[in-house]
Amino acid sequence: MPDFPKLFIPGPTHVPDDILEVFSYPQIGHRTPEISELIDCITLGIQEILYTKSDIYLMSHAATGLWEVGTKNSVKNGVLHAVNGAFSSKWALSSELNGFKCKVIDFEWGAGIDVDTVDKSLSSGEYDVFAMVHNETSTGAMSDLHAISILLKEKYPDVIWLVDAVSSMAGVKIEVDKLGIDFLLSSTQKAWGLPAGFSICSVSDRLLKKSESLTNKGYFLDLLTYRKYFVKQQTPTTPSIPHMFGLKYVINKIKSEGIENRWKRHVEMAKYTRNWVLSHGQKFFTKENALSNTLTCIDNIKKWDINKINEELLNNGYRMDRGYGKFKGKAFRVPHMGNIYMEDLKDYLNKIDEVLCRLKY
Ligand code: PLP
Repeated sequence: MPDFPKLFIPGPTHVPDDILEVFSYPQIGHRTPEISELIDCITLGIQEILYTKSDIYLMSHAATGLWEVGTKNSVKNGVLHAVNGAFSSKWALSSELNGFKCKVIDFEWGAGIDVDTVDKSLSSGEYDVFAMVHNETSTGAMSDLHAISILLKEKYPDVIWLVDAVSSMAGVKIEVDKLGIDFLLSSTQKAWGLPAGFSICSVSDRLLKKSESLTNKGYFLDLLTYRKYFVKQQTPTTPSIPHMFGLKYVINKIKSEGIENRWKRHVEMAKYTRNWVLSHGQKFFTKENALSNTLTCIDNIKKWDINKINEELLNNGYRMDRGYGKFKGKAFRVPHMGNIYMEDLKDYLNKIDEVLCRLKY
């Protein structure tokens, strides 16, 4: 096997050998009792991790496809997008390109979503769908789902709520039913700690009802297509069976760790990283009231040479993040999710410390 550096980028995240091994299990047929048993087991596990009784659909494509599943199956009048980073911005673009009536509320990158601003926009009554990214991977900003939940329940109970949780699902406690989230989506390469190319969503009954009232959804992204096969514990198309083996394995790992312990581990790793940042005289790129539990985005005010640090870390077996897009070198990120445990994180940050020392920072 090639000896690639250990990933310390916020996705794809590190996948250890025990999980990789599961990906080479013999294949099973996708219309067999074996697959139904596997899907049943995965569904129950994910429902427990997401605190929901909603349907769970498994899709053999990237999470970006789920943005369009969400909107195609819900938007009748218009969709309001909260944009506070690169991924929420791309989701809004996808809605525009799909021809939906679409409004964007722009927040500062690095900030969380402000509930009063969402309230003001929804009060026009023009939008029947609200779409947001829970954890903006580009900036490390995690928004407050509870505040949005209260707003929607109290003032806009008919608005369908779509939430991208690509870099928070399985790393942060999200109580789907209590919050009233209609559509929660993720792919597998972040806090689930699996290879990329597979995605997961929870779908509320009222979203399925809304979908029934809509036309021009096509076939592949229509939730009703998934529903038809979900009741048989199958998927409409031939799925990535290795990902399903992987998911089952990771769900069991999460259960052995203990679900509450998993949330606690992510909080503790986030705190450790934040202390490390401050003790090095750096600042957070993210606003302090929106710091993520799964990654930390650092404003490089000490002007460390990130490319040089990257080179040194590569020589020591680590692939670091150098910042998203336009922030490259100015704001870099430390992921702490999925298969990263406190010991891995400490080893990584110690290695950066050694490099900083060598570079005389
Ligand atoms: N949403 C967020 C918050 C992300 O971080 C990413 C990828 O990094 C995506 C969506 C897109 O995910 P995928 O590459 O699985 O389509």
